[in-house]
Amino acid sequence: MCKKLITINHFEYNYRIIKMPKLTRDQQFQKSFNVFIEKNYPVREYVLTSSTKIKTQFHHEYLLHFPRKVISYYVDVFTVDENGIVTPPGPVMKDQEVPSIRTFSSYFHNYFRPFILKNGSNIQSYTDIINHWYTNGNQQISSEYEASSGLSHNDLMNFDLYIKIDVVYHKSHLPFPAILSSKQHFEQQCKNLEARNIELCINIQTITAMYQEKEEQYDALRRRMRVDRRNIEHKYNSMFERIEKKIRELYSNSSIREECPVCYENIEPSKLKVSKCCHSICSDCSSRCHSCPVCRESY
Ligand SMILES: [Zn+2]
Ligand SMILES: [Zn+2]
Repeated sequence: MCKKLITINHFEYNYRIIKMPKLTRDQQFQKSFNVFIEKNYPVREYVLTSSTKIKTQFHHEYLLHFPRKVISYYVDVFTVDENGIVTPPGPVMKDQEVPSIRTFSSYFHNYFRPFILKNGSNIQSYTDIINHWYTNGNQQISSEYEASSGLSHNDLMNFDLYIKIDVVYHKSHLPFPAILSSKQHFEQQCKNLEARNIELCINIQTITAMYQEKEEQYDALRRRMRVDRRNIEHKYNSMFERIEKKIRELYSNSSIREECPVCYENIEPSKLKVSKCCHSICSDCSSRCHSCPVCRESY
């Protein structure tokens, strides 16, 4: 047992690696087949037996048996029915519905076909149904007889179904979905998290770059607005100065004198101040005011 520390950026995952014996090909297939049955026939009982002695060889043969009678429960006492027939302790059987070979084959191929390994047109590794037959007591019906006699699934309701399956391996390729051990599953999750983390980091970088670009654009816009504003203010002030000068000229040429709203003196042309609100004030009072004494508009 050893310890390994995975660091994904600033997150740390500390986990123990438990050394587990490697599953044989047969064990891996049995596990994968269990998952296949659970997914497609969750309640059906079956027996999958390997008829291959050497578990390391590349060609494995299996016999799959769907019994029609399955154990329902056990009775551990002698029972006597109303006719006086004594039944010894033992299992009480019940019927189960055996899948039709056509339905089973279609699910089987959908599940295992994607894991076929090909080299050109040469199939190197596969899981396939080789043959099937039915039994009921001593009566046996072959797949050939089933096909030629046109027997339907309903005609075979009282029969057990046997299916011969071949699993052919090539090097380390598994011709079925690998069922991960909890350690492999955990490692897979770590890998997925790591990949997701990298993806998120890239997203963050992209978003940050985008944000920086927008920030720069915004700064440039703000600078341009400041310049524009200064230009406008400058234009406005010089225009106002010219107007004020003109008013003063006209005022000095006129005989009418305005009264300062602060000191009530008549304003001399040289002391006339006209604010932006167009109210008049003498320059002495204007220097002491922050806003127009008439309308309160700021100077
Ligand atoms: Zn005044
Ligand atoms: Zn005013």
